[in-house]
Amino acid sequence: MSDSQAARAVLCRELNRPVLVETVTVDPPRRGEVMVKIAACGVCHSDLSATNGTIGMKLPLILGHEAAGAVVQVGEGVEDLAPGDHVVSSFIYMCGTCRYCAMGRPVLCVNQGKALITLPDGTLRTRDARGEAVNIFSGCGVMAEYATLSVQNVVKIERSIPLECAALVGCAVTTGVGAVFNTARVVPGSSVAVIGCGGVGLNVIQGAAIAGAGRIVAVDTLVSKLEMATQFGATHTLIAQRGEDLTKPLKQLTGGGPDYAFECVGSGELAALAYRAIGRGGTAVVVGIAKPADSTAVRTMTLPFEEKTLTGSLYGSCVPRIDFPRLLALYMAGRLKLDELITHRYSIDEAPQAFADLEAGTNARGVIKF
Ligand SMILES: [Zn+2]
Ligand SMILES: [Zn+2]
Repeated sequence: MSDSQAARAVLCRELNRPVLVETVTVDPPRRGEVMVKIAACGVCHSDLSATNGTIGMKLPLILGHEAAGAVVQVGEGVEDLAPGDHVVSSFIYMCGTCRYCAMGRPVLCVNQGKALITLPDGTLRTRDARGEAVNIFSGCGVMAEYATLSVQNVVKIERSIPLECAALVGCAVTTGVGAVFNTARVVPGSSVAVIGCGGVGLNVIQGAAIAGAGRIVAVDTLVSKLEMATQFGATHTLIAQRGEDLTKPLKQLTGGGPDYAFECVGSGELAALAYRAIGRGGTAVVVGIAKPADSTAVRTMTLPFEEKTLTGSLYGSCVPRIDFPRLLALYMAGRLKLDELITHRYSIDEAPQAFADLEAGTNARGVIKF
């Protein structure tokens, strides 16, 4: 069976306009590709960033990069996936052969650019009603009923795992928990500050809790986010007024500065706060994606005298085929909260509302169910 498939999809055609729901045609998989019937797709801040130009992706664009579903068709040469298999999307393309892939750091793959808005071969399997090709977010475009993806952008999972929970591992959970486990390697008993408690920040918090951090300070401008932060393991909360310098309260709450601080907003100013706040020998990790022109500054002298580290974490420094199953095993063992992350389920017709709610910060995670 290799048929084109009509699918309703969430598109951005114009910046700073509400997203659109259109019927597109999804073409069958070619060599090394699979078609997936999507069951659920999380609505991520990066999708919003593509609709307002913070992340520059050529339009028209099918949104979505955090989904799970079932394989319905497989292309030539696909041997480890069959129709009926459950998969989670991964929004990094990994060539498997460059030096970064070879050293086990596929998020740094030099060939990633090949699958930014197309499949890795530079072509698309998606057409709109007029027959024009439609780009796909990060080689995924999974905010749609069906999507054809490279096998390098999917990870097989156990069928017993609820797909709406599994979807979240495709971005927010891996980005947040991975930053704790893989990038910072937080050790038990340490102190952690988390700046920004959206979908990713909440997962940094629960990652820090699983890692055994002794003190976890959550920072946000919204009280509702701080209440969620507490549910996910924060031991202390700090409400931030925009522009206020929280270095002192952060140092006071952690006995001289946290061992680790995670910036989950994407702001040079907050990256500088994370760096200032950490104690001697501490590590500040920038997880949020800032605008391209944004920059940050640190007092140079503190680098040698205090041996501080300022680093970044992309996609939780993950290896999808290793980390997705590990995270889902933690979920199945009752240690990773995924059900609790989903605070609202939307139909595809409600996609514009899902984006409005994301912007307003009312959800831990909103999920579109198909
Ligand atoms: Zn995302
Ligand atoms: Zn590579």
